[in-house]
Amino acid sequence: MKLLVVKLVTLLSLVVAGDIVSYDGYKVYRLIVTTSAEIDLLSELRNDQRIDFWSRHRIPNVPVDAMVPPDAQTEFETLLKINAITYEVIINNFEETEIIGRSFERRNITLVTISSGGSNKPTIFADAGIHAREWIAPSMALYIINQLVENATNAHLYANVDWVLIPVANPDGYEFTHSNTRMWRKTRSTATICYGADPNRNFGYHWGESGSSTWQCDDIFAGRHAFSEVETQAIRNYLAIHSHHIKLYVAIHSHVNGTNYTVGNSAELLYTSAGCSDDYAKSVGIELSYTIELPGGGTSGFDLPPEDILSTVEETWEGFKAYHQYVENKFVNLTN
Ligand SMILES: [Zn+2]
Repeated sequence: MKLLVVKLVTLLSLVVAGDIVSYDGYKVYRLIVTTSAEIDLLSELRNDQRIDFWSRHRIPNVPVDAMVPPDAQTEFETLLKINAITYEVIINNFEETEIIGRSFERRNITLVTISSGGSNKPTIFADAGIHAREWIAPSMALYIINQLVENATNAHLYANVDWVLIPVANPDGYEFTHSNTRMWRKTRSTATICYGADPNRNFGYHWGESGSSTWQCDDIFAGRHAFSEVETQAIRNYLAIHSHHIKLYVAIHSHVNGTNYTVGNSAELLYTSAGCSDDYAKSVGIELSYTIELPGGGTSGFDLPPEDILSTVEETWEGFKAYHQYVENKFVNLTN
């Protein structure tokens, strides 16, 4: 048995591990070790840098979770079987990252799925950064991804419910707020006089009605027609395939003042706005659909000071955990 361990470690060591930029295809295994010999075996495996053990304990019968990259999985499973170590694959593909389209200026529109495997599970979907200047929104999406992917205590949050996030739904606008005009809101598509449309007025449900503009230079210009922008087309096309299992849609925006949240119909609490992603999501059959306005800060409200980012996303993460709890209670049949 010892020889087999050495062989696996050697094979893995031969592969030069680069910086991990994606967990695509990574599996997470839950191992139960019972004997001191099995604990010793795991100790040797811990020397391999490519196997990410999520716990360091050496306690018999307490599960140990380990994430293993695709090219090490066959050997890893063989080793476990030969040594009769009880295991199960608790996550089939730790992260699925997908390009669902390209922006007007040909930047990737990236979608991240976090799932424990299987298909058509109840899903929470979030778009963020559709308004370019609302920088806290992509931060929120990245924080959610980080909490799910890096914090093992949150594994239950994707056991029965999938998460799908678009961290930067308007990448051209987002780039433009960094390179040129901090307060830019729209896409960067070209028109006759002014650039861009408001992508959150461009969705094809009651498009062009109240709270949007027909004048191309306005910040709330609805676009030449519904889904004129490739960025909104990308979301539309994704929802056309997946809306039947998306149970909760969240559009992440900013800003409101303070952290005392008010819940209600956005047309009554804020203002009417036709052609938004939340209404469109509802129109294609997604039962629960929300827009979150995160707290503002700085001089404009959109330039939250860096020291306030973490507390803002931490607080809002608690809300996302409540979303998850509700979706799991309502849509997951845990008795199956
Ligand atoms: Zn917004």
